[in-house]
Amino acid sequence: MKTVIGERHGMGLFGKAAALAGVLLAVMLGASRQACAGADAPPSSAVLRAVATTGMIADVAREVGGPRVEVKALMGEGVDPHLYKASPGDVRAMSDADVILYNGLHLEGRMADVIVKMAGSGGGRRAVVRVTEGIEESRLREPEEFEGHFDPHVWFDVALWTGVVGSVEAVFTEKDPAGKDGYAARAAEYRALLRELHEYAKATLATIPPDRRVLVTAHDAFGYFGAAYGIEVMAIQGISTDSEASLQGINALVDTLVSRKIPAVFIESSVPRKTVDALIEGCKGRGHTVTVGGELFSDAVGREGTLEQTYAGMVLHNVDTITRALGGSVPAQKPGRIAAHVEKWAGGAGAPARDDD
Ligand code: ZN
Repeated sequence: MKTVIGERHGMGLFGKAAALAGVLLAVMLGASRQACAGADAPPSSAVLRAVATTGMIADVAREVGGPRVEVKALMGEGVDPHLYKASPGDVRAMSDADVILYNGLHLEGRMADVIVKMAGSGGGRRAVVRVTEGIEESRLREPEEFEGHFDPHVWFDVALWTGVVGSVEAVFTEKDPAGKDGYAARAAEYRALLRELHEYAKATLATIPPDRRVLVTAHDAFGYFGAAYGIEVMAIQGISTDSEASLQGINALVDTLVSRKIPAVFIESSVPRKTVDALIEGCKGRGHTVTVGGELFSDAVGREGTLEQTYAGMVLHNVDTITRALGGSVPAQKPGRIAAHVEKWAGGAGAPARDDD
């Protein structure tokens, strides 16, 4: 009798527990289904998840990956990579990724630890790639003031940046061999656009009168740009923004601007403009008027949904802005592939305000 009651009692408890577990399971399933339908879910056609540190790298990944790769950029508009620290959300995104793409050469100065950690974990499932590995080391700048390190701002020489396309294509193909032909075709297409962009930059910047080919910016990001396109480059701060601009440095630059009658200086979207303003004030005090030639995209791409969010758009903006401000002439008609790229972004919800039409 006792046993029977016990059994009944036991059954009753089991029954309640089972019902409760069923409810809990249903709630959990519902919740996870909702999570899958959220913004984090990859598009149905995507095979790989890639995380890129900068917008420039993310753009290469989108161009090469096409519909097969879901790409997330950690650093958006106006973000300074020299100072950027990974957020908990970034770490989660990197943990979930199949491929992590970073610039290296000390650009992501405060993310080194987390990148190393990602490379060492994941049991080989996750590929962590320094995209600048695709660039011949002999072509990297080694500025004196950077004390034995390479200049990380390689994207400013379009021909050099083309080397990155190979790094991205190789890792996507390794992780998703079935997509090989598509990656190869899109990479070839993108390389052709970059070749045209490089020639466009050379030809357009060459219209600036020789004595005006001086680019003055907030930090020393344009070394490769200067070397590739024949522009003398001067900056208030060094290669990294992770140091204070000195008053001495500003005064020396004011001397140069005044004595060489340099008409314009440039601000950068990812660096506060106060040092550039100090430069302008300094020149004014010496009777020389300097204007702001415009805002350049140095270490970050432009606003999401605009042409300048793409690498090609950012380069175009910089080349045209610099050329105009320093007295050169910007061609009214862009070459074929560039024109088609611009056209893709024109008229969209976030279409850029074009000032050269
Ligand atoms: Zn920089």
